[in-house]
Amino acid sequence: MRIVLLGPPGSGKGTQAALLVKQLGVPHISTGALLRDAANRGTELGLKAKALSDKGELVPDRDMAGMLEERLRQQDVVNGFILDGYPRNLAQAETLTTLLERLEQPVDEAILIDIDAEQIIKRIAKRAQEEGRADDTEKTVRNRLRVYAEQTAPVADYYAERGLLTRVLGDGSVDEIFQRLFSILNMATNPTE
Ligand code: AMP
Repeated sequence: MRIVLLGPPGSGKGTQAALLVKQLGVPHISTGALLRDAANRGTELGLKAKALSDKGELVPDRDMAGMLEERLRQQDVVNGFILDGYPRNLAQAETLTTLLERLEQPVDEAILIDIDAEQIIKRIAKRAQEEGRADDTEKTVRNRLRVYAEQTAPVADYYAERGLLTRVLGDGSVDEIFQRLFSILNMATNPTE
């Protein structure tokens, strides 16, 4: 299964992706986590990305494309992946389609975790306490939500137009959301059941 997981910051994408990979046995590719790892290692891209993400801004498409291609060419991706955090805008969606066509591994499903802004702010405040992420301050969160609405939300339409999008309600407990996701994926893999 090659799955793109979409949703605003704080929608629980990362948590759900981690649960899905356990179930599906495919790697979780989180571009945010790859960038945080690069920042911890002190690479040029990592440090540049940290400065941008601390403000809630996106890292340039060209940098992201190189990093993503390198990751998608690794051996563990042959049986599929859960992509979390990419694409973040329409240009990235086109880049991903082209790249996966070249690798002969097209996206099977794009899943949007739908949740309203009020719940997001609550969740992110909680995550900031638990994980201490530098990009979880209120000002940054506002900026991330604005960037999401302007640039990332249209990516859901991109996949909808291609008949690949399923929406999942993002309210409720982690377990409830996971059950919704899991039943969608079951239907996608066993359409007659
Ligand atoms: P995330 O963990 O997905 O919320 O990503 C954290 C931060 O990393 C984002 O706010 C961006 O600054 C950066 N980032 C992650 N993925 C992308 C992407 N696909 N394009 C641009 N920037 C990204």
